[in-house]
Amino acid sequence: MNLEKLAELLFPNNKYTVEELEKKYPKRNLKEGAEVTRFAPSPTGFMHLGNFFQATISYNIGKRSGGVFFIRIEDTDQKREVSGASAIIMEILTSYGYIPDEYQLKGGVTVGEYGPYYQSERVDIYKAYAKKLVAEGKAFPCFCKKTEGLSDVKEKREKKFSVGINEDKDPCRNLTLEQIEEYINEGKKFAIRLKSNGSVDKKVKFYDVIKGEIEMAENCSDAILLKNDMIPTYHFAHAVDDTLMGTTVVVRGEEWLPSVPLHKEIFDTLGYKQPKYIHNPLLYKLNEEGNRNKLSKRKHPEADMRFFDREGYDKQAVIEYLINLINSNFEIWRKNNPSVDISEFPFDGFNITANTPIFDLVKLNDISKEIISRYSAKKCYEELLLWARAYSPENVDYLVKDKDYVIKVLNIDREKPKPRKDIYKWNMFFDLFDYMFGVPSSYEVENQKQFEEVVKNYQKYLCLDSKDIWFEKVKEMAGELGYATDNKAYKQNPENFKGNVATVCEYIRVAITGRKNSPDLYEIMSLLGKEEVLKRLSQFA
Ligand code: GLU
Repeated sequence: MNLEKLAELLFPNNKYTVEELEKKYPKRNLKEGAEVTRFAPSPTGFMHLGNFFQATISYNIGKRSGGVFFIRIEDTDQKREVSGASAIIMEILTSYGYIPDEYQLKGGVTVGEYGPYYQSERVDIYKAYAKKLVAEGKAFPCFCKKTEGLSDVKEKREKKFSVGINEDKDPCRNLTLEQIEEYINEGKKFAIRLKSNGSVDKKVKFYDVIKGEIEMAENCSDAILLKNDMIPTYHFAHAVDDTLMGTTVVVRGEEWLPSVPLHKEIFDTLGYKQPKYIHNPLLYKLNEEGNRNKLSKRKHPEADMRFFDREGYDKQAVIEYLINLINSNFEIWRKNNPSVDISEFPFDGFNITANTPIFDLVKLNDISKEIISRYSAKKCYEELLLWARAYSPENVDYLVKDKDYVIKVLNIDREKPKPRKDIYKWNMFFDLFDYMFGVPSSYEVENQKQFEEVVKNYQKYLCLDSKDIWFEKVKEMAGELGYATDNKAYKQNPENFKGNVATVCEYIRVAITGRKNSPDLYEIMSLLGKEEVLKRLSQFA
């Protein structure tokens, strides 16, 4: 068959040739060791924590190697596309400081020389490659109804349809030029399929950065490259785009692992070298019985990145938590370098922990507590206000009006060598410190009689001149009411006392805060002021 003629028949008006494209997108001028990585989400309107985990690996490899990190929006599946989704993706990434070197905003700017960065705007590019493969006899048109709209292996599996084992008896492989011409004249649509040379009996080997060397059966499927609407399948677009855009490391979910033999054949057929692959594992979560489940947006609210914003998690904590899942030596490094910027951590994208990552909210909370405990009160205030503006607007006026007081409240047991570690997300602030903004709504009292005696008497002893004097006065009252002021004596004969000074402090604490546990009581009382403290005590008079 005259393949040149066939290619011309199928693609009469192509905008580019492959040669032109190779010139238009020259090899990147990179320094030794620099890697080009990308994040290539499908714009479905929501970012899964697992995708963000992937972006974390990609971003760090690209940026830390002095290379490039870019965003490519894989919007070839128009059915699943949600409008505004790519803006959400950019917003999330940039809010965590993952600023891409190259990207495109829908209907807006394009930054970078390797765009368009939306696959839907690259159709002319894919068509150039499809034409070349047809002209070389490496791909063929397929007029089967069955190939309509089928984009990837998963979709095919769902429809229980397996496209093209490379059998010579496949009718589409054996069409004559005349038949094809006839179909085209009838206005029939066609897909372009790979003419696979693979054999089920042969194996291919490839290297995955996390999983090591992997051996799989060769691809022998005449896979669809362009669907009959000329939209590429993921497989074809991956090979074309990652080649032209100069990607050196592809970080993607491990669900793509079975497709690597097909990708290998497509790259080989195009005469291009495959990039390095990191197939990152999916995130799991343990359920109450201790069994693993995939982190899913249906079952786990934290699968959606918006959860962390809504709850007011510290962004740095989310990043550090994920870095720790990627490089398990991070935890020790952080312990030894508590206040060093994370950019100093020797991140190693080529030595990723191979264990299945289990997402553990308690651990994230601990990391977040640690980070927030080192913030100044002013920084806490700024973060709290930022969060409130987005998620708790009813508190904004108050936060702004009483800024100084709020900063003082945030400063209780803070900016000290051993700061208090209680806040791990901003939405807990008002519950945690409710007593600083109003009278408690309930009181943790066990011994009502003793409690009331202490609280009533304490009004006479209340003194907030200094912490020492305040404590002396508490002690004085304790002694007079029959509580031990000497702990040794109390331990030897507890039955001689109603309790000790700590018991007395607890009663006062409950009267003021409603709780048995709180940060430093003197600091709380001083901040509330004598008048407010007396008001709270007098309720029990
Ligand atoms: N759009 C693909 C996905 O979301 C990207 C995979 C890749 O990074 O190559 O799974």
